[in-house]
Amino acid sequence: MSLSQIARSVGESVTLKLNETAALLREKGEPVIHLGGGEPKGRAPIDAVVSCSSLLHTGEVRYTPPDGIPALKKAIIRYTEEHYGRIVGADNVIASSGAKQSIMVALQAVLDPQQEVIFPVPFWVSYPEMVKLVGGVPVPVEARDGSFQPTVEEIAEAVGSYTKAIIINSPNNPSGVVYSEEFVAGVVELCEKHDLYLIMDDTYNRLVFDGRTPTNCYHYSKAHNLDSSKLLVVNCVSKMYAMTGFRIGWAVGNRELIRAMTNIQSQQTSGPAAPSQWAAVGALNGVQSSIESLRLTLENNRNVLMARLGAFPGVHVTKPGGTFYTFPDFSAYEKDSQKLSRFLLDKVRVVTVPGSEFGMEGHLRVSFCGTIKEITEGMERIQWALDPSAPNELYLGERRLVRDWQ
Ligand code: PMP
Repeated sequence: MSLSQIARSVGESVTLKLNETAALLREKGEPVIHLGGGEPKGRAPIDAVVSCSSLLHTGEVRYTPPDGIPALKKAIIRYTEEHYGRIVGADNVIASSGAKQSIMVALQAVLDPQQEVIFPVPFWVSYPEMVKLVGGVPVPVEARDGSFQPTVEEIAEAVGSYTKAIIINSPNNPSGVVYSEEFVAGVVELCEKHDLYLIMDDTYNRLVFDGRTPTNCYHYSKAHNLDSSKLLVVNCVSKMYAMTGFRIGWAVGNRELIRAMTNIQSQQTSGPAAPSQWAAVGALNGVQSSIESLRLTLENNRNVLMARLGAFPGVHVTKPGGTFYTFPDFSAYEKDSQKLSRFLLDKVRVVTVPGSEFGMEGHLRVSFCGTIKEITEGMERIQWALDPSAPNELYLGERRLVRDWQ
């Protein structure tokens, strides 16, 4: 079969594939613990459900404007004012089918073939593939000190004549690290100095711990108004409202860029699904307590997981300041993260995501968006599988496992 160069260069979404594998194994009755997931387990806020079902009850579910219904854009404008202190117009806003689509149409709107997009390592699995889908060149930047946050100078060293944009995701998937305010300030300044687009992926912006306040990148922008700025801020309902399946995200930025993104989206998918847009309106305008309750649950889960990982000999872990992921270094046990992740799934039925997918070998992404029971039992199984000094037997429910490896 003759497929395009782009099709051949793009890999499948590993995280979505793992969800599928976990679901298939569960269907077969396997006692799988999914520590690889990327979605909170709670229900969507009731206001989202009511708003969505009100539309469904009318039976009149139609096309919407390609950049979103006015009610959703209004809710996004209010959200931007409340959480970023910015008053923006309706033409500065586009609603998409998830933050993923907002980022995708932004890349399509700004990149010419062979132009480069810089992002720090470790990175969200989709960035390199999305850049490749547009014919661009991904430029991941590692921190020389081995940490999860390169310096602004390291980012600056990667900027060249082909650079068109930088993507920053903080708190970060997969490390959970909240980039320092100095780093964010430095990157905003760097982009303004070199006239680069900056895509701030704020998907996990509100899910921060230890009394942190969410970072507001606009604080560091010298642009007098949004329309003279190349800063694009992306958010979504997926994580903070536990609404991954509704597929609603948005971007706020320069009117000209938003118009170009809207044109692309209008030809690609048209507006996002109307029931989902109304669900997002309900979530954004409704009672907000579910975010704080999720944040507290995640912070508690994080603490439980850190205590487990801290007691794991040879494993190095950086405490996440946000998200629901952590990215421990298991290289003392196995340097090849694909092999290690496969081994844990095969032997003890625990799903993790190999670090290589995020640009860092030797690490595994471990999620803490599940229950405390899943976290503790999952970690027990991992420790049992890897630590030769652990007892020789482990019970997975009724099933007795005997260690037949070293
Ligand atoms: N950015 C990051 C960093 C993410 O982790 C995700 C989801 N895993 C997205 C964007 C996409 O979110 P959405 O579900 O709104 O498309």
